[in-house]
Amino acid sequence: MSEDAPKQIWFVTSNQGKFREVQKLGRAVGLDVLQVKLDLPEIRGTLEEIAEDKVRKAQVATGRPVIVDDSGLFVKALRTFPGQFSAFILQTIGNEGLLKLMQGVTDRRAEFRCCAVYYDGVRLEQVTARCEGTILDAPRGRGTDGFGFDPIFVPTGHLKTFAEDVATKQKISHRTLAYRQLFARLAGPGS
Ligand code: IMP
Repeated sequence: MSEDAPKQIWFVTSNQGKFREVQKLGRAVGLDVLQVKLDLPEIRGTLEEIAEDKVRKAQVATGRPVIVDDSGLFVKALRTFPGQFSAFILQTIGNEGLLKLMQGVTDRRAEFRCCAVYYDGVRLEQVTARCEGTILDAPRGRGTDGFGFDPIFVPTGHLKTFAEDVATKQKISHRTLAYRQLFARLAGPGS
């Protein structure tokens, strides 16, 4: 690990589900991930644009090395909807509403995407990762660890939803893939 690699990072999120997942990923590489709950206004744009804008605002607000992520569910038959609007859709129509929109749709393919970004005021690192799967007809599993769209998403090659099998989610999810790469970059020398 390079000498200037951060040992402690502040994760700006109000989402406990995200925090739990990222804290575990940090622990696995000896990185202490602490949560900061801040309500930051979000711009419109791609996941990458939203995440970069968010991380810059979060860094200014905290004065710390920070990470944020912007993520969402992209459904093929709905031309990638809800995508960047995932949080709004969950707050308004929820999983039930999304499943209603998909009634009679036979192509159930979808993917989660996560854009994770680090910024310390100087160094900015950004990684986007995906996890492919399918959308069920009805939710399954409301485990204490699962959140958001987890009860309706089954990753490719598996039988259980992310909410039913959080151990698998922690191994293969969009967020896991993104942060593993991000943390590996941070452990190396800065550019
Ligand atoms: P944002 O990244 O905070 O804008 O979140 C987008 C929305 O997608 C939130 O409402 C999350 O609950 C949902 N979401 C993000 N990541 C996941 C996930 O890993 N599983 C299920 N839902 C997720």
